[in-house]
Formats: sequence, C-alpha cells, structure tokens
Amino acid sequence: MISKIINEDLITRVKKAIDNVDKIVIVAHVGPDGDAIGSSLALWHYLMTIDKEPVIIVPNPFPAFLAWMPGAECILDYDHSKEKADDLIASTELIFTLDFNTASRMGDMADAVLNAKADKILVDHHLHPDTYAKVKISYPEISSTSEIIFRLICRMGDFTMINLACAECIYTGMMTDTGSFTYNSNNHEIYSIIAELVKIGIDKDDIYKKVFNTYSVDRIRLMGYCLFHKMKVYPEYRTALITLTLKELSQFNYINGDSEGFVNIPLSIAGIDFSVFMREDTDKIKISFRSQGTFPSNKVAADLFNGGGHLNASGGESSTSLVEAVKKFENALPDYKDFL
Ligand code: 5GP
Ligand code: MN
Repeated sequence: MISKIINEDLITRVKKAIDNVDKIVIVAHVGPDGDAIGSSLALWHYLMTIDKEPVIIVPNPFPAFLAWMPGAECILDYDHSKEKADDLIASTELIFTLDFNTASRMGDMADAVLNAKADKILVDHHLHPDTYAKVKISYPEISSTSEIIFRLICRMGDFTMINLACAECIYTGMMTDTGSFTYNSNNHEIYSIIAELVKIGIDKDDIYKKVFNTYSVDRIRLMGYCLFHKMKVYPEYRTALITLTLKELSQFNYINGDSEGFVNIPLSIAGIDFSVFMREDTDKIKISFRSQGTFPSNKVAADLFNGGGHLNASGGESSTSLVEAVKKFENALPDYKDFL
C-alpha cells in the first residue's frame, strides 16, 4: 500500500489545470540530471497518453548517458533552440517546473518562464520552494521528483495511463537520485513503487546498464586521473576534494556529463564522510558536495558557494579562480569540524 502523501487539494488543482488546457510546457533545471530528465519525460509520456500537447525544454543539453530514454530525442534545449523555446514558453497554457526550487536554477531560461502568462505548477523535492508557482507540489522528504510524478499520476486516478516508456523514465529518476538506492532510500514505499514499475514491464537491470555502463574511454581515464593525481584527502576533517581545470578537462576530450558521479567516489574511502568536486567552467567554478550521515553538505554549499540542495547532496558555484575557491574551502573546513 502506498500512502497518500500529496495533499488532496493539490491533486484536484493539478488535475483541473491539466484538464483545462492542451498546450503544456515542461521545464527542468540547468545541468539536467537523471531525475530532471526522468521526471520531465515521465510527465511528458503521461500527458501524451491523455492527448495533451506537451513539450520539454531544458536550459542546456543533458548528458549522453540519458539519450536512450524514450522521448529524449524530442527534448528541446534552450542553448540551441532559444527562439523556438521562447515562442513555446510565451504561447503555452500551462508550465510544469520540475526538480528545482528556485527560478535561478533555470539559468538563461528563467526570465522567459517567469514572464510567461501561463500558470506554473512546481513539482519538486528540494527545500524552500520559490513563490513563482500557482501550485506547489513540494515534498523534500521524497527522494526524487520522478517518484512524486508517479504519486501524482496515481492520485489523479491514472495509474493505468503509466505506459512502459513512462515507467522507465520514473525508474531512471528514482534510481539516479538515490545513487542506485544507496542513499535517501530507506522509505519502504520506494520499493512498492518499483514493484509496480516492474509489473508494468521495466527491465531495471537493463536501465542500470544503460545509465551506468556506457562510459567512454576518455571518461574512465579522466576518472583514473582524478583519483590518482587530483584527489586531496583531509583525514582530520574526514573530507576529500577533487578539482579539475579546463585544461585538464580538454586533455581528456571532456563532454558534458563526463565527470558526473566523480564526487561520490571518495565517500567509499573508510573515514571519509564529506566529498567535494570542483570543476572549472568557462565562466565559473561548478562545485558538487556529497556527504554521509548528518554532515550538512548543503550548509557548506550555502555558506561558501552561494548554493544549496539536500543534506547529503548539494551544489554551488564560484566566480573566483579555482585556486581561490580551493583556498576558501580549505580555510573554512575547521568551521565544520563540529558537524563531523
Ligand atoms: P550536483 O552535484 O549533482 O550537480 O547537484 C546535487 C544537488 O545539489 C542538486 O540536486 C541540487 O539540489 C543541488 N545543487 C546543485 N547545484 C546547485 C546550485 O548551484 N545551487 C543550488 N541552490 N543548488 C544546487
Ligand atoms: Mn531530483
């Protein structure tokens, strides 16, 4: 039995909003991950099944390891299709914003979405949702937005409208946002939902393979290089840091998504509970944080790098040089010793 977590009034409002329109735009966050794409595509498949006209627009391209997902070829990215995307956003009747809590997570696309006349429905699992949405389906206790989409569709009475493609997308988001069910994954209802998805016909072993066993030689070599040459360990703070410069990335023919998951690796070292990964980009340093137990990685992200996220998985950015970002981080480490 799966409990009714989403408030009944919210279900009614979403259902009514969908019933009243044909054209629907679905947007997700910058650097779309498995849950952003999974939840967007799951909702897209569902809306197609009930004869709506949904379009997914993401701020920038998604990583290649998600390209197999059914419907992925129809996703527009704002970087490459700005004009078309602006038209669609301006003329749509309803906008779903998935897997993020603040408008700034839409990057360059934020203004277009905020200025659109369409009502917005936020569906997300991050703390402190923004106020731009007319309806907020915000449940931080749920480990993925894809799981919320499953619950939403079921509660609207449409479980039977979840086809195989939709189920595969839901599973992919649930799997990737929990590190293949290794964190944020102790709610037994997750497994009741997976059982339903397996009954619909998903091949969960095959999905794992498609997402995780498709790395390029360059990516694996970059991983090896990071661990051998670039991982700094601070045993007294149970912390590890990996940094990569643009030059190093280009030596390994870096493409978007190639460093996905690197930040998790140091947590498998005994005695490490906090792992940080800094990647130099053309205009900023992108920083990922992961922790185990009660260490608040999101506090470090917010305090030092204008970021946020979940307790054990968060991110932020820096506009300084990589060297300065590292210095700032190292200088601040003693401040967090009490949390360890
Ligand atoms: P990742 O390290 O995989 O990019 O991000 C992990 C989580 O951290 C995301 O799901 C999101 O919740 C959060 N996050 C990542 N980057 C940012 C950021 O720049 N700002 C905020 N507020 N949260 C972020
Ligand atoms: Mn998510």
